[in-house]
Amino acid sequence: MRRATLTNDFSWSKSRHEKFSECLRAYYLYYYRSWGGWEAEAPKDIRELYVLKKLSNRYSWAGSVVHECLRDVLLDWRSGRSVEPAEVEARARRLMQDDFRHSQKKAYWTHKYRKAFTGLVEHEYAEPVADEAWKQNWETVRQALAWFFSSRWPALARSLQPAQWLEVDAGFDFSSFTLDGVKMFAIPDFAYVDEAGAPVVVDWKTGKAREGYDEQVLGYSLYVAQRYKLPVEKVRASLVYLNEGLEQQVQVDLAALESFKARFAQSVARMRELLKDPATNTPKDASVFPMTEEVSQCVRCAFRRPCGRLEAAAQVQAQPPKVA
Ligand code: SF4
Repeated sequence: MRRATLTNDFSWSKSRHEKFSECLRAYYLYYYRSWGGWEAEAPKDIRELYVLKKLSNRYSWAGSVVHECLRDVLLDWRSGRSVEPAEVEARARRLMQDDFRHSQKKAYWTHKYRKAFTGLVEHEYAEPVADEAWKQNWETVRQALAWFFSSRWPALARSLQPAQWLEVDAGFDFSSFTLDGVKMFAIPDFAYVDEAGAPVVVDWKTGKAREGYDEQVLGYSLYVAQRYKLPVEKVRASLVYLNEGLEQQVQVDLAALESFKARFAQSVARMRELLKDPATNTPKDASVFPMTEEVSQCVRCAFRRPCGRLEAAAQVQAQPPKVA
């Protein structure tokens, strides 16, 4: 049987926009230069970029473990299975211990492990991270799960009728739609229809509130409305800060959506300006993707070695934190 050839098609997501805004070189390495690095016969430099781009940092790792746990819990409830919070916590802990060992050995260079986790930049670059900081990372996960189980969400999820469930963190293969002819990824953590018939999209957060999250849920709202043929102005969006025990409702009205679409179109246009051939998503020369002048950005970047910013990033990291 012939394998379908994978093509690097242009698509838009909030995370792509963020990378584009933070450092054009990182954007180029992530979305173009590392393409094909999964092939066994890929050139060494491409392979290296591909493995590096898959690495997490400890904060994103903690967030993704919480998301995976909540996805499994919600899917269990959707299927009518019972869930034991203590078991969820114990599973998360074992998973993180296994992940940590895999990453510490840098086994990601030679072994396939699990799709949602490759390794950590902290191990790749031998960053000095105190034991206390690793423990705190686990605490973030534990506290987020504990708050979730004590919140209104378990009772709400269990009360939903089958027809009220829309989707639960359905992943890249499923959650995308087309906006102005561009494929856009929008993966809500949880989407359902409430008792009044309004679609609700929910985004779990393990970090603190920051700008840009409203944008993300506006994208989810457009996606849910389009996929399930529901009126977009009826969608309600919720940002749930699990570690702070806070919920924020995001206004989804036509004005907010129009302004989101305008910013989306501008972002897509700027990305396309850097393509030699938009039809095949072929980028211009690497020189039009300059390295950021903000070396502080490089401190967490997975590409700092091949990019040539290893030393500069280490120097920034070694500086004592500024006192406000
Ligand atoms: S190391 Fe710095 S300059 Fe290089 S890709 Fe990363 S963020 Fe950009």
